[in-house]
Amino acid sequence: MASDDSHINLVDMSRMQSIPKTLPRHIGPASTFPSLQPLSSVLRTRLFYSQEMTVGRLAIVAIYLGIMLFASLFKNNLFTNSKRAGYVAMSQVPLVFALATKNNIIGMFAAVGYEKLNFFHRFVGRILVLLVNFHSFGYFYRWQLEGTFTSSMRQPSHIWGVLGFAAINFVYLSSFGFMRKRFHTLFFVFHFVGFSLFLVAIYKHQPIMIPYVFAACGLYGLDRVILRSIKTRFTKATIRALPELNATHIQIPGINAGWRAGQHVRVQVLSKSMGWVGCFEVHPFTVASVSESEEGMVLICQDVGDWTRKLYNLASAGIAAAEKGGEVGREVRLMVEGPYGGLGCTVVSSYSAALLIAGGSGITFALSAAQHLLNCEVKGQNQVEVLHVVWIIKDPASVCPLIPTLTSLIRQAQCSPMSNLTVNVSIYYTGTSRASPKTLAMLDTIHLGGLEMRPNRPDIASVITETIDQTVKPNRGLASGKDETRYQGMIIAVCGPAGLGSSVEAGVGKVDWARKRSVGGVEVCEE
Ligand SMILES: Cc1cc2nc3c(=O)[nH]c(=O)nc-3n(C[C@H](O)[C@H](O)[C@H](O)COP(=O)(O)OP(=O)(O)OC[C@H]3O[C@@H](n4cnc5c(N)ncnc54)[C@H](O)[C@@H]3O)c2cc1C
Repeated sequence: MASDDSHINLVDMSRMQSIPKTLPRHIGPASTFPSLQPLSSVLRTRLFYSQEMTVGRLAIVAIYLGIMLFASLFKNNLFTNSKRAGYVAMSQVPLVFALATKNNIIGMFAAVGYEKLNFFHRFVGRILVLLVNFHSFGYFYRWQLEGTFTSSMRQPSHIWGVLGFAAINFVYLSSFGFMRKRFHTLFFVFHFVGFSLFLVAIYKHQPIMIPYVFAACGLYGLDRVILRSIKTRFTKATIRALPELNATHIQIPGINAGWRAGQHVRVQVLSKSMGWVGCFEVHPFTVASVSESEEGMVLICQDVGDWTRKLYNLASAGIAAAEKGGEVGREVRLMVEGPYGGLGCTVVSSYSAALLIAGGSGITFALSAAQHLLNCEVKGQNQVEVLHVVWIIKDPASVCPLIPTLTSLIRQAQCSPMSNLTVNVSIYYTGTSRASPKTLAMLDTIHLGGLEMRPNRPDIASVITETIDQTVKPNRGLASGKDETRYQGMIIAVCGPAGLGSSVEAGVGKVDWARKRSVGGVEVCEE
């Protein structure tokens, strides 16, 4: 990609002089109050067995489990009266469905995307399966003792009950992590079929279930039929292969507004070349460009599996065409649904410093967040003084297609004497052995203040410390006329593989309290 092809729009920082500042108000989250910082760091601690489970999340599921145990066991013996387990299971059906929707009410109130509530959907689902099993086996056992098993099983309501029991266990067995990761589409189909059967079966099992079935269908229907349709666009896009990144660049000029930095969209490529299954698959990708830019929405999709490889191969056909004098880009039709997720209520531009840490394809998030801050700076709506983008990659050659974009971020900040924003970009590459001499020679030619390339993984604690020190260093505060005691905190936004979040949390834990306090507290959010 040439620099003028890069998906970052150069903003005219010289316009800054004429624009009055309307700085965003910073409302520090509870976690940044000094007295609550120890508690918040405990709540964010990840449990040793999981990249996803934190102490805070464990507390949520423990409270929920307590409520379920109370409802099931209070003045009741599950082994002699399994009816209660059935009632409690029934009450959880709408909750499981609410948590499964992309536009869910709980997420709206908690200001978090559906993907962040997924752990709770899985937990509530498992409790539902457990309760249904207690309920069913309790009855099987009782009928066996009474010698009425065969006659009871012939009753229509019991046949429907057994069907519901089989359906929910089928959903459970087809939802193991292995299935979700290796066969995502099959997992989705099994989930859909299993839950549909389950709802029909419990509807027929007992009339008391009917309102709960309607509630579940209503929540799912509202999301699937109404809210998702409102958020869906069918449009044309240009796809280009980025061989160095092993990724596909999707540019959608027809959509150029309506998302915030860090949000993602769900994409379906409507082309037979994706295969009969592939053209029905919907995959999530973080938007790499900023809203209201001329280039429109840009996505960068790394080739990691079956679907993304088909997309890459489709885009590579454009390279072959270009070699014969045709266009590099290839036009395809897409369905784009969203946006979803993002940083919720966090206003990145209201902090004093921002550290964006991206691993691999997570750079898409960092690029849009960084460009958003530069745009805010031009409009006089930015408080961030130091923006540090850290990108961790395996193959140094991956940098090549994004060098114009990354350098343009630094230049935009440097080209205005009025700008109080300093942008640094640090790229860490872990696989030097993969780099071809040509790549290493190219990397050697990049000499731009603010951009550094380093081998090996970063020491996250040192990166955090450096960014804090750069923000609070005395002459910076004085130059901006800022009262040095009033820094508004540092936001660390992380996007990348699951382990990256844990490393960043561990890094934050290693930085001493006094230093974190000097910048007004450090907050971590993960996309
Ligand atoms: C919120 C979010 C934002 C993302 N943003 C980006 C991005 O900007 N750039 C990028 O390159 N990748 C991004 N990804 C990852 C991307 O969605 C997957 O790499 C892609 O779906 C893999 O599909 P596949 O069939 O090629 O690979 P597979 O081998 O089938 O799957 C690889 C991994 O992706 C997961 N996955 C597969 N299909 C889906 C699906 N339909 N929905 C959710 N997860 C799925 C699987 O569970 C597995 O862990 C993002 C993922 C999420 C959840």
